[in-house]
Amino acid sequence: MLDISTLEKRLRAAFPQRTVEGVIAPHDCEECVALRANLKNETWDSVPDKFVGENADVLPLLSEAGYAAYLPAWIQYALRQPNSDVANMLLVNLGHEPRTSKFNAAQASLIIEVAEFLTANNAFGAADPVNQESRAKIAQAWAELRPNKSLERTRER
Ligand SMILES: [Zn+2]
Repeated sequence: MLDISTLEKRLRAAFPQRTVEGVIAPHDCEECVALRANLKNETWDSVPDKFVGENADVLPLLSEAGYAAYLPAWIQYALRQPNSDVANMLLVNLGHEPRTSKFNAAQASLIIEVAEFLTANNAFGAADPVNQESRAKIAQAWAELRPNKSLERTRER
């Protein structure tokens, strides 16, 4: 059984607090300028909830390094508010626009469990077809990084 305090503890353990040295959001528009200004020198836990809440849809604008560093802030918000726009957009992002390149196996496993938690705890519930589809897509996208998956592949060879 997944509970929020365990997931939050594991989120902290899996994603260290760090700032991004390079570009946080590469695009040149007002929204991306604001993103860079607000996230610069922040670690994921220091990003204000208010900022995350007002920026439910910005994950695709982040660079790969920015995405890997700040995704946990959006995850934490979503865990606490599974019916928020942040949670809904996060499920879409993790399944349809996953950028897994900078993540390790432990982080990927946690992301899959976050998807299970969110789809079980939003208003639609675990059995809802849209929730089921989100969960399946996210599991497929992130399971690539899980060690047991690569073991299976080795055995197939
Ligand atoms: Zn932009």
